[in-house]
Amino acid sequence: MGLIVQKFGGTSVANTERIFNVARIVTQTYDKGNNVVVVVSAQGDTTDDLIEKAAQINKNPSKREMDVLLSTGEQISISLLAMAIESLGYPVVSMTGWQAGFLTDSNHMSSRIRKIKDERLLKELDKKNIVVVAGFQGINRYEDITTLGRGGSDTSAVALAAALKADLCQIYTDVDGVYTADPRIVKTAKKLEEISFDEMLELASLGAQVLHNRSVEMAKKYNVNMEVVSSLEDKPGTKVKEAVKMEKMLIKGVARDNDVCRIAVVGLPDKPGIAFKIFTLLAKEKINVDIILQSIGREGTKDISFTCPCGQKDRAIEVLNNSLDSLEAQKIESDDNVSKVSIVGAGMQSNPGVAATMFEALYDSRINIQMISTSEIKISVLIERKDSERALQVIHDAFQV
Ligand code: ASP
Ligand code: MG
Repeated sequence: MGLIVQKFGGTSVANTERIFNVARIVTQTYDKGNNVVVVVSAQGDTTDDLIEKAAQINKNPSKREMDVLLSTGEQISISLLAMAIESLGYPVVSMTGWQAGFLTDSNHMSSRIRKIKDERLLKELDKKNIVVVAGFQGINRYEDITTLGRGGSDTSAVALAAALKADLCQIYTDVDGVYTADPRIVKTAKKLEEISFDEMLELASLGAQVLHNRSVEMAKKYNVNMEVVSSLEDKPGTKVKEAVKMEKMLIKGVARDNDVCRIAVVGLPDKPGIAFKIFTLLAKEKINVDIILQSIGREGTKDISFTCPCGQKDRAIEVLNNSLDSLEAQKIESDDNVSKVSIVGAGMQSNPGVAATMFEALYDSRINIQMISTSEIKISVLIERKDSERALQVIHDAFQV
């Protein structure tokens, strides 16, 4: 018995049947004597459809108006779910983000939560109401509607769990947990019983689309007891928590990111200050640089390569080309037929040979590595995109995760 926050994503509330399914999960939790706060996303593709609709009216709408529009998706969900719960005979109240006290900054379409004024919400819980809150939305200090960025409902749920000091934050979704690899690609992928915040953060930022990155960051910061569970099947999910019991498993997962592109600045003078110049130029343009590689200088010249998201490639090339003379570079080359494949696991910190195992698996399959980067709990390689699914499989096999 306690206070439980349950979050349901867009697929979990996509139609009438699913809404009733959610209503049943919620009321069962309530029947066990818990206080229940539910956070929901917009139904199915609603948010995408709204973005599409806006584009038909105005190619460049203000972000403020986009937030007014996008926040409607979640409002449909809260009212419908509240009606379903009501029809099952339970006391319930729906609340928009602002009614629930989500105060955010003014960075429309990717606002950050500043504070949650939870007085009203607590009153509703005191009255033994099930409270259904619209995810992804808040209000800024000018009382304008804001949204938290795509996938932001996870963050709403975790923030609420932290503010209310909930005993548990359950993220219900259409997958039944966090897997060692994308089960659609790697058939032998297994569901993890538990994963640490740090490992989950790495996997989330590598494109394992189970949880919104910021929600994991927040869960770690406030030590929120978090769990990813299926809304469609009644079985145990994956617990995300601080420390995970020591296990044999060296790595927790293998992930692939296709949203990468490699850019090379070729024929640079081999002297100090060049990297500084290049990355200052890119930083000014807010280009998100990931892996960086500098070749050893030979005959007075060197190359510097880096990766960035595909959407920033053209801008990055343009900026560098404009500065070709001042950089004294010969040319800029780029390649967008690449993928980043990574392994993640806290176990690699204390176990030598993890990198060698990964590289051997790639070598055995004749997959060429273009770039490598490492952190304490992650090793990433950049390879040709056409090899990436095979790479996931052979690396997964090599670690027998
Ligand atoms: N409905 C929003 C989106 O599709 C927020 C969310 O689903 O978490 O991005
Ligand atoms: Mg969504």
